[in-house]
Amino acid sequence: MEIKIIGGGLAGAEAAYQIARRGGDVILYEMRPSVFTPAHKTSYLSELVCSNSLKSTEFTNAHGLLKEELRRLGSIIIRIADETSIPGGKALVVDREVFSRRITDEIESNPRITVVRKEIGEIPEGIVIIATGPLTSNDLTEGIKARTGVHNLYFYDAISPIIDGDSIDMDKAFFGSRYRKDAVDYLNCPLTEKEYDTFYEELTHAGRVDLKDFEDVPYFEGCLPIEVMAERGKKTLLYGPMKPVGLEDRRVANSPCAVIQLRRENEEGTMYNMVGFQTKLTYREQERVFGLVPALRNAVFLRYGSIHRNTYINAPKLLNERLQLRDDERVLFAGQITGVEGYVESTASGLVAGLSAHAAATGRAFSPPPEDTCTGSLVRYVTTETDNFQPMNINFGLLRGYNKRQKEKAVAHALESIEKWRETVDSE
Ligand SMILES: Cc1cc2nc3c(=O)[nH]c(=O)nc-3n(C[C@H](O)[C@H](O)[C@H](O)COP(=O)(O)OP(=O)(O)OC[C@H]3O[C@@H](n4cnc5c(N)ncnc54)[C@H](O)[C@@H]3O)c2cc1C
Repeated sequence: MEIKIIGGGLAGAEAAYQIARRGGDVILYEMRPSVFTPAHKTSYLSELVCSNSLKSTEFTNAHGLLKEELRRLGSIIIRIADETSIPGGKALVVDREVFSRRITDEIESNPRITVVRKEIGEIPEGIVIIATGPLTSNDLTEGIKARTGVHNLYFYDAISPIIDGDSIDMDKAFFGSRYRKDAVDYLNCPLTEKEYDTFYEELTHAGRVDLKDFEDVPYFEGCLPIEVMAERGKKTLLYGPMKPVGLEDRRVANSPCAVIQLRRENEEGTMYNMVGFQTKLTYREQERVFGLVPALRNAVFLRYGSIHRNTYINAPKLLNERLQLRDDERVLFAGQITGVEGYVESTASGLVAGLSAHAAATGRAFSPPPEDTCTGSLVRYVTTETDNFQPMNINFGLLRGYNKRQKEKAVAHALESIEKWRETVDSE
């Protein structure tokens, strides 16, 4: 039975290749060049819409480790990225033209893959992978909405930065919520009046990311960028996300003038989310301005804050760990539309969806990749129920059982684990 894939981006091309190399037949629908997204410029498959960097090559960086896992799993995207790389220091940087052209040629000449240049508006019959990305066309968006429910489809990310727990200065922060002094879910970063004055001044003058024309974001009151909120007056933040009321640092005599609350993102406390700090500041400015907060002076940002157009589903509610709709297993989702963020993360999701769909089509068992690998932790992240699901880049904080003090051991373990998983998938 042939498998249909909608979207010939990074996830769709990877999924198609994985199915074909296991002997499955694929119809890959790509709407370009007859219809373009607002960001794509060519008719190539797997076009990189912005940066030509696939981030770090170092295994001790989660982006580097994810790429190495995918390399070992036989990813076409990573293989061609390696083959078309240009000097980029410690990052895998590619010649974007040659990269996408090479992928297009290889996919189009694969006898098991039929590429059909056509916009798909409704979810077709049979086994289908939806990999239409953050700029999914309007008709299909309506089709997905009709299938998943309007409340399970989002159009914008308004995300706050996530900070590495180990990089927070605990001598300058204290645990406790407004309602429970002993709560450990919230870590409070206090500022004195003088510190707040400087912070406010720098925040309101910091550099911002320009909006693209298709990102004319109608900000909702509930998720205004922190710097836009600050423009309303110096006291606005003190009555909003930096409200100090009820947050006493018992170690010092004076009450703080302002507090930034960090919410624990995972049980292990390796990641903390800056509550209410969605922002359009540039990445560099986020480091500089948020680094003025004493507890965050050496903060390592696992994810930067942003607000941008991004179509994605409420995957934890809708998808099982094989990336299939829980109530209709013939429909799978892959790539950024599942809530992973980034080129390589989308590739990983496409690879897993391709293997999963092929297993379903051939009546074989399929176990998702182990959770102590980057690939597996991404799948776990997008399929684990949570109240506040937001897109995520790969980072070590997602890996099950990760211990920062034993990073090299965790890396070796992840690679061993992914090799074992590959053998299982190949033998099933
Ligand atoms: C403006 C912008 C800048 C970005 N910059 C970066 C960056 O610098 N680094 C990074 O890591 N990530 C970046 N991203 C995120 C990036 O989109 C993803 O990382 C990645 O491209 C997602 O892969 P994907 O395969 O899920 O989607 P895409 O690569 O977007 O592929 C989806 C494909 O589906 C096609 N399609 C859509 N609807 C239909 C339909 N109805 N029928 C048929 N085909 C359809 C599209 O034409 C497209 O080819 C950026 C995203 C945007 C929007």
